[in-house]
Amino acid sequence: MIPRVTATVNLSAVQHNLRQVRKLAPSSRVMAAVKADAYGHGAVPVARALDEAGVDTLAVACMEEAQELREAHLRAPIALLEGVLSPDEAALAAYEGLQVVVHAFWQIELLEAMPSGSNIAVWFKLDSGMHRLGFPLDAVPRLRQALARHPSWRFQGWITHLARADETGSSATIDQIAAFDRALAGVPGARSIANSAGLIAWPSARRDWVRPGLALYGASPLPGKTGAELGFQPALNLESRILAIRTYEAGEPIGYGASYVCPERMPIGVVTVGYADGLHRALPNGSPVIVRGRRAPLAGRVSMDMITVDLRGVADAQVGDPVLIFGEALPAEEVSERAGTIPYELFCGLTNRVRFRYL
Ligand code: PLP
Repeated sequence: MIPRVTATVNLSAVQHNLRQVRKLAPSSRVMAAVKADAYGHGAVPVARALDEAGVDTLAVACMEEAQELREAHLRAPIALLEGVLSPDEAALAAYEGLQVVVHAFWQIELLEAMPSGSNIAVWFKLDSGMHRLGFPLDAVPRLRQALARHPSWRFQGWITHLARADETGSSATIDQIAAFDRALAGVPGARSIANSAGLIAWPSARRDWVRPGLALYGASPLPGKTGAELGFQPALNLESRILAIRTYEAGEPIGYGASYVCPERMPIGVVTVGYADGLHRALPNGSPVIVRGRRAPLAGRVSMDMITVDLRGVADAQVGDPVLIFGEALPAEEVSERAGTIPYELFCGLTNRVRFRYL
């Protein structure tokens, strides 16, 4: 049986992208973000590929994601970016040997409530300007006192997160880095600042650890540039098929709301992918898919299970032909931008109706 929508994930591309990160930040260790099911690519296979390629640490958002990876018996340590949320989670994190990214004093209290001698691994996250998670910068002395009270804690280092690293013309990143450095002047411990955009665009953000996510999947966090242009390899090809081809006359409307009207007699291909597979309904007429190596523009609204495309440029197209929705030959960056979003959301939006295959 041929699946109607297939995501083919090239795990060697993920490994290539890890090598590319290491080239950019040769003195840094790599904490790979595999949260959100490895940005929709499949947490276990991606984490395993990164583990085999020697990644230093894997980062997930929460305990549920960490447990999924634990069951896969990977060698790399796993960090919980949201930290622990309850006494049970703190105990489980210690038991499972997870690294906890602590961002608030109530989380320190959770760890302090554990039996003394718990050798939990902790990172401290500082808020240098993102203003989402993290201790205020002036909390550093108190955090050092907490470490001094708990010699059994295995301190991993200091983390901060960049809010505008994708805006290469903005000084916000420089300000965040400077604020982080000022707060930690003379303070021991490893530093970690950069996400993908940080490590690509801001050399001064490449510290002891970098924390790429998107770049590992081969997409670019920087507007106007594709991952491929930055030396990364797109890891996921989303492919569907042509289910029907019909010819319509000039003036005939296509699909819901008649958002497309045929300008002339023309073939329309019906392709089996829709918003129930994760393709954004906001994609406008004219957004391309690829049939037989050529671009075929969307003609009509994205519906739940189908899209309709203008096949005038692919007159030889046949029912059953594969159709690339995004991937190597059609960057996710371009498709997401046309849909008014970012590749992160496009990847994470793939639904469980999509069949995954790993190379
Ligand atoms: N570090 C933290 C704390 C994050 O929340 C994320 C993702 O949002 C990343 C690193 C990876 O970011 P990116 O996918 O932009 O490289």
